[in-house]
Amino acid sequence: MALFGRSGKAAVEKTPLDGVDTVLADLDGVVYAGAGALPYAVESLTRAAADGRRLGYITNNASRTDADVAAHLRELGLDRTAPEEIVTSPQAAVQLLRTKVAPGATILVVGGEGLISEVDRAGYIVTASADDAPAAVLQGFSPDIAWTQLAEAAFALKVPEEEGGIPWIATNTDWTIPQARGIAPGNGTLVSAVHIAVGRLATVAGKPETPIFEEAITRFGARRPLFIGDRLDTDIAGSQAAGIPSVMVLTGVDRPKHILAAPSTSRPTYILEDLRQLFEPYPATHTDGIRTTVRDAAVQIDGTELRVVSPGTRPIDLLRAASAAVWGSGRAIFGFHVAEQLYADPFIHP
Ligand SMILES: [Mg+2]
Repeated sequence: MALFGRSGKAAVEKTPLDGVDTVLADLDGVVYAGAGALPYAVESLTRAAADGRRLGYITNNASRTDADVAAHLRELGLDRTAPEEIVTSPQAAVQLLRTKVAPGATILVVGGEGLISEVDRAGYIVTASADDAPAAVLQGFSPDIAWTQLAEAAFALKVPEEEGGIPWIATNTDWTIPQARGIAPGNGTLVSAVHIAVGRLATVAGKPETPIFEEAITRFGARRPLFIGDRLDTDIAGSQAAGIPSVMVLTGVDRPKHILAAPSTSRPTYILEDLRQLFEPYPATHTDGIRTTVRDAAVQIDGTELRVVSPGTRPIDLLRAASAAVWGSGRAIFGFHVAEQLYADPFIHP
């Protein structure tokens, strides 16, 4: 690649992968949707790894084991994926547990096989009863959780932590879990049921909290990681809190309107249509205080109007320019009248 930096004419724009030694990816909405792979995900991640980078996956889903997830990824074509490459919220929860309770202790586990096996593997005794005097409660999602298990958790957590009560760790607090037939209550909803009963708050291991990112950084020895996610409130907020540059990819849950409205705590470093753009030079954002430009796309804020000055050739550049303009304004999105073109969503794959 030619470099013009020394002559001072034009610095070559870098790709999001330049200098990155470890690519950390969320799974649902980034690699796959349900059982099937998303367009370009498998080949792009394979290519990123072929360039000498480590690949790792970070998932809040606590219902499957790392081995199950690795097998799924191998089926999709990520041939050499080993269980160690999957960092799950149960693993992060157990790491967090270790900082509070020594192995050998009895732990009340509310959750599925993914969580039970991690707690057991770490040398703790698993129980389902508050009568066994557990030293902590660990709670993760499983479709089989019943009221009886939530009740056991509540009984075990009746003493507030500040009065000597035992620790309560949740794998994650995603409110919803998408299913083939629609949106269903996620672990956050079930944790909330216990919270309302006992008046205590759980410590959370999964995204957007940082323990799951810290577990990944340690495990992969990452020095220059890049995280790829599809949700601002978990993926991007979490990587920002953990100090990791992030890619927001438009193949999953969050859409352009969410990106424009992203609070300052969940703004991605890069916005990509799909993972092929990991290998493309990422265009610089220019602003003269009035106009914000990315390549040939430009927007302008006039009072409460967020206007399109030039739509440019690529809709993604227009979204990048508009996001930069809104974020740089220091004003909330609801204070703007936004041109319809800016929150249109031409990025949905067929
Ligand atoms: Mg996702």
